[in-house]
Amino acid sequence: MSASRRIRLLVLVCLSALSLSVKAIEPATPLVPNSDPTYQQLRNLSLGSEAVSVNNFDLKRDAATFHLRSGTVCFVAPVRGKVTGAVFVGDGNMILEPRQASERASLKLLTKEDEFSENFSHLVLRFTDGTYEELKKSGGSASAGCDAGLLHDSQNALRHGHVMKYNLDGRILEDVLGSDPGGLFVAFIHGKRYNGHELYFIDPHGAPNVAPEQVELMTDDENKFGLWTSFYLADEPKGITPQQAVVRIEHQQLDTTIEKNANLQGKALTTFVAMRDGIRVIPFSLFPSLRVQSVTAEGGQPLAFIQEDKKDDADFRVIFPKALTKGAKLTITTVYGGKEAVVNTGGGNYYPIAREDWYPNSANVSFGEYASYNMTFRIPKNMKIAATGDLVSEQNEGGESVSIWKSGRQPVAGFNFGKFKMQEAKLEKPEYLVQSYANEEPPDVIKSLLHVASADLPTQGSHMEGAALGNMSTVPLIKKALAEGQLSVQLYTDYFGPSAYKRLAITQQTSCNYGQSWPELVWIPMCYFYDSTIRHQLGMDWGDRGYWKSVTSHEVAHQWWGHTVGFNSYRDQWMSEGFAEMSASPYLQLIEKNPQKFIGFWNDQREILLERDKEGWRAIDAGPVTMGYRMSNSRTGEGVTRRLIYPKGAYILHMIRMMMWDRRTGDENFKATMHDFVQTYTNRAASTEDFKAMVEKHMTKEMDLEGNHKMDWFFNEYVYGTSLPSYKFNYSFDKDPAGDVLFNLKVTQSNVDDKFRMLVPIYLELADGRIVNLGRARVMGSTSVEQKVPLKGLKDAPKRALLSYYDDVLAAPN
Ligand SMILES: [Zn+2]
Repeated sequence: MSASRRIRLLVLVCLSALSLSVKAIEPATPLVPNSDPTYQQLRNLSLGSEAVSVNNFDLKRDAATFHLRSGTVCFVAPVRGKVTGAVFVGDGNMILEPRQASERASLKLLTKEDEFSENFSHLVLRFTDGTYEELKKSGGSASAGCDAGLLHDSQNALRHGHVMKYNLDGRILEDVLGSDPGGLFVAFIHGKRYNGHELYFIDPHGAPNVAPEQVELMTDDENKFGLWTSFYLADEPKGITPQQAVVRIEHQQLDTTIEKNANLQGKALTTFVAMRDGIRVIPFSLFPSLRVQSVTAEGGQPLAFIQEDKKDDADFRVIFPKALTKGAKLTITTVYGGKEAVVNTGGGNYYPIAREDWYPNSANVSFGEYASYNMTFRIPKNMKIAATGDLVSEQNEGGESVSIWKSGRQPVAGFNFGKFKMQEAKLEKPEYLVQSYANEEPPDVIKSLLHVASADLPTQGSHMEGAALGNMSTVPLIKKALAEGQLSVQLYTDYFGPSAYKRLAITQQTSCNYGQSWPELVWIPMCYFYDSTIRHQLGMDWGDRGYWKSVTSHEVAHQWWGHTVGFNSYRDQWMSEGFAEMSASPYLQLIEKNPQKFIGFWNDQREILLERDKEGWRAIDAGPVTMGYRMSNSRTGEGVTRRLIYPKGAYILHMIRMMMWDRRTGDENFKATMHDFVQTYTNRAASTEDFKAMVEKHMTKEMDLEGNHKMDWFFNEYVYGTSLPSYKFNYSFDKDPAGDVLFNLKVTQSNVDDKFRMLVPIYLELADGRIVNLGRARVMGSTSVEQKVPLKGLKDAPKRALLSYYDDVLAAPN
């Protein structure tokens, strides 16, 4: 492994020297990775000679209090005069009290107790804040007596971790070299009560996995993994997104060559603005097997950089010789390359494994940051590529197909290529170019699966065999994807307003079980292009619960949700996935004009929310949608977030649509809300509270259940809460003296607290089969509402009355 990497390294050195000389820049020798002397000292850090004894000392760090009853604290050796760690050995306890009730509830999942109170007999601390001074002041002098092995264990935990690989030394280097005092605090807690591998993290720049939030408790344990709580620092202003980013990337110029064997060679010119004074170390996100060859500043000066082994904490960081000033704009050139970021899956199919990090991207890759892109791709000449942005040119040069793509501000850049056939259609309203790409030949894995499938077929089914196996090309279905893409774009433009884009390429990807969306580009799983017979033979029937029906409309809807409108943090991701999922339902209702499919869609969504996983959890109970991917842990189950934020996020938007629906104007009010939301947040990140404010701006009088023109009641129940009401409906039809139908109804709401409010729509199925919305009952708490409603002019008794016929309210099934 390492020998082949060394060879590739040499090839890349040649390439980088070549590209530098082409640009007439003085050739310079790239620096050896990880060779910065300060970094080396931090990487090889061990205990120093300083130690103190402590007695009943409280170290408070945001919501945590470390009570050191008795013991010894040994400090690490200083690096550039800064002490960045300590080991405590003795008797101690940690109390963690998040300020938010929802976070205390989340911790309870780990502890099964009301209070988080952990005991330990040793503790490793890493910091760049005032911990050293504070501990030193507190204690009497002691002769060193701590186990240096504890420090090394903590270093190994994040370098080679099974759960999280994170270059903490690189992060500490940012503060040691920077002029900022630094506020990092990390505690490795060998807990005796809950878990032996607890990690308490405070990073003002944003903690790992949960940034932009800064405080987090996780278990770094292969068998018991969880992000148990996370929140903003107490002194962070509320309601404002902190801009912790060290830099903001403005522009990327990416030159990418992908060889036939899928080896990727890249050169990135990344232009960014320093967001604070005194920065010397800048973190980026780059796929670990893409090995950095060189980083140079404008003028060709080589820059030092960090990138550990691809199997370890390979986070990429660039080190500047001098501190940057806030607002300074710089461009650096990174030359990198390697295998594994893209895989050749056979039959002219390529599978990009590296998603948002096939180029040096922003360190906290989220869909809330926008940059412009100029991209050049060089791929084998008989291949066709679709990428984000506008195609500027495409031509064959030697053995390569070279294409140039350009885009305005986008949250991320991506591509897909292969031996594709393409068909396209131009829309006029809205003006949009929709393209559909598919490959005639299946990838090797599908071919071999089919081989197995055909061997398994019973003899009486052999007529199917020929049909299925003889025609595995997905090209004939290219039209289906194209048609669905066109119709979705038109429908969503009508419902949500114009997207930020004018082009959409729908492409197939090798992986069968998920899709992905980029600005102007979507990847649809290969199996979507196959019919249900073939999917059955491939063992892919699992997706029949709605997945195959809605995968294209879901991915297309991400052009609005996730790309045109970005999302702030993991707390808001439910909107991206949920709104995209919901978008499939008006498609079924208005394009396919199939009310049964529409109702079936919502039944499927409810079922996903209410079924138990193997850990015994129903997704709906695991936590609120705003917990996002943090909610999946070893207690709730790995898939719980997927089973929560997609269907429940969809339901939340659907419920708002249904509440806004009006007999006279239909969806107009809902459309106005969504148009306003999209227009206001085009090319910006929106938060859950931003969306709430938008709903409040457009809410109807009827929705104002608390009389304060706020939607708190609804958001507290369904967005920030886990309520699930049950309903019972009793009714009868009489005649009044004039011969008109008199409707007696009783709606009973249960399994909710006293404050739970809801608007419950009542529908009638008339004698002629039409379904009409009669109005909405207002119910509060676990109670019943009774009413007699004269249906003036209606002589024939309706066939039946129904509550929430269109699944208007997410509730327990009857
Ligand atoms: Zn999605």
